[in-house]
Amino acid sequence: MIEARQKLIDTARRMAPANLNRGAAGNLSARVRENGEDGYLITPSGMDYDSLTPEDIVFMRPGGAPAGRRKPSSEWRFHHDVYLGRPEAGAILHAHSPFASSLACLRRDIPPFHYMIARFGGDTIRCAEYATFGTQALSDNALAALRGRCACLLANHGLLAFGRTLEHVFSLAVEFEALCEQYWRACQLGPPALLSADEMRTVLAKFADYGQPGRQESGESAA
Ligand code: 13P
Ligand code: ZN
Repeated sequence: MIEARQKLIDTARRMAPANLNRGAAGNLSARVRENGEDGYLITPSGMDYDSLTPEDIVFMRPGGAPAGRRKPSSEWRFHHDVYLGRPEAGAILHAHSPFASSLACLRRDIPPFHYMIARFGGDTIRCAEYATFGTQALSDNALAALRGRCACLLANHGLLAFGRTLEHVFSLAVEFEALCEQYWRACQLGPPALLSADEMRTVLAKFADYGQPGRQESGESAA
């Protein structure tokens, strides 16, 4: 499954140019079936994405030991728990992008200042309670913040998102960071006017059949 490993590396390398990450911060994973086993591939801990080769990617068996020559991302617990708890998740992205991370330091949910908040599944974007990176407590807090949603802030840390595929989660993360920037900019001018609960219900219903039914999003392969 060299292709799946290379695709993970290629997507991870797109994170810095898209302003989602710098250095070795953040991590990325994708569900796969490798050598007849179901699991997920994840970026190794603390390695620069530019230096990665397919052998550096770690295969994780649910509830089992990692397979590979590298230590998996220190955040493998929340990747593991999202795959377990959210069957619709095919890929997961965690980043310390500048605007999401700055807002996460306020430890506040992002209110419905823009209708695109609904893109992530609810009428707010939640901020998960703070816990030390790489801990089960952080995973538990993240899973709670993701209830009914596909993305959240992690207090004093960054963003976490999941999607159907690597392409999907990558585009969600770019939209998430853009929304955080818009909120940050709007707040410089005064408290933004918020959309009502009624309006957000309408938007959420519209998102249920938004886009092209039965068609993958642009750049998204069926795999
Ligand atoms: P890893 O390099 O271990 O994935 O850690 C980066 C990170 O963002 C921890 O939260
Ligand atoms: Zn992190």
